[in-house]
Amino acid sequence: MSAITRATGDNSANHHSADRTKLQQDGIGFSTLSVHAGEARQKNADSITDPICCTSTYTFTNTQSIIDFIEQKQPREEYGRYGNPNEKVVEAKLAALDNAEEAIVYSSGMAAIVGLLMAKLSAGDEIVFFDECYHRSREFCYKHLARFGVVTRTVKTGDMQAMEAAINDRTKLLVSESPTNPHLTCVDLEQFVAIGKAHEVETLIDATLATPYNVRPIDYGVDYVWHSATKYLGGHNDLLAGVIAGSKEKLDSVRHLRGILGGINSPHNLYLLERGLKTFELRMQRHNANGQAIAEFLEQHPRVEKVYYPGLKSHPSHEVAKQFMKGFGGLITFNVKDADWRETANIIDACKIPRIGPSLGGVESLIEQPMVMSYFNYKPEDRQKFGIYDNMIRLACGIENTEDLIADLAQALES
Ligand SMILES: *Cc1c(COP(=O)(O)O)cnc(C)c1O
Repeated sequence: MSAITRATGDNSANHHSADRTKLQQDGIGFSTLSVHAGEARQKNADSITDPICCTSTYTFTNTQSIIDFIEQKQPREEYGRYGNPNEKVVEAKLAALDNAEEAIVYSSGMAAIVGLLMAKLSAGDEIVFFDECYHRSREFCYKHLARFGVVTRTVKTGDMQAMEAAINDRTKLLVSESPTNPHLTCVDLEQFVAIGKAHEVETLIDATLATPYNVRPIDYGVDYVWHSATKYLGGHNDLLAGVIAGSKEKLDSVRHLRGILGGINSPHNLYLLERGLKTFELRMQRHNANGQAIAEFLEQHPRVEKVYYPGLKSHPSHEVAKQFMKGFGGLITFNVKDADWRETANIIDACKIPRIGPSLGGVESLIEQPMVMSYFNYKPEDRQKFGIYDNMIRLACGIENTEDLIADLAQALES
């Protein structure tokens, strides 16, 4: 605990002290990290919380101080699009949680992945994706990166041989979610990294559904970890943000491009994210507990045909999930027995606690039918191809009491 109790006396406007990253090196517990990592011990006005620094630009004392800054003699802020003090704190906290050297925060999860791909790929390059993935990631690669001459190849999720076979000398990046959305397939991170290393191709994991509490892909050698911080990291359904974590060397060009693309958060938003992170471990413990208990309840329910949850022995990824994850999160997908899309919708509409909406990872439970919410305009055969069935429900368990959620689902399934 020495790093926590050590006072630095740093009360300047900019807290670039080594104090920030020290916490993670001292092997301190996860919740202690979420509460304290990245924060200066002594802050402006002796406030315990980080004041929201509402400014678009930062002033210099004189011309020499500009020159000192340019020559990097003096770390400080310059202009709001390149960063702000609230962002520095959140980035250091998120890097500590992911056990990464560096983290870059963006205005949304999508801004983060777009920022990384735009920084890393050029015309003629190729990327390989596992097919179960966030539909907007797929859309960005196939519709937009393609316009810049980048080729995307998709292989079946978890098929490592197919992934390896799709690599050629133009391949720059292997991409996967783990667990995937909405099927909750988990990827063997050691195999994934081994393939990347064998072919000198970088690897990226979208760990939004796992969070750094349940898995830290960097510890297995993954190059880039991506989270939609809109979900569990923010945790309160009140903000959008995204983060890419990795090594400083690999992220320098990414940060530079973000300063040009401009997908940065406002200091207000970053304050909400920092505040949300304070209770991160506590929330994750309840999300994990709710996910497991409700998945078990659904699995034995006569109206449920199939449950996708990596904490269940019946899930094809159960062994991989057990090997790599501390818990299995709050997201559960299930298919209703002998139900068409209307009957499935009726169950959703009968729920009294989960609210109907997209997203996941907040304190409020959310429920939705992927076929309606995300795939309504797809052709039936395309939905089939992506494994989206008419009778499928996605439940994002919040932190409500387990018994209440189970009782509510029971009455909805029986209605
Ligand atoms: C929500 C989500 C994203 C996109 O993040 P935004 O913050 O909504 O831009 C990407 N991947 C996964 C797995 C998600 O759940």
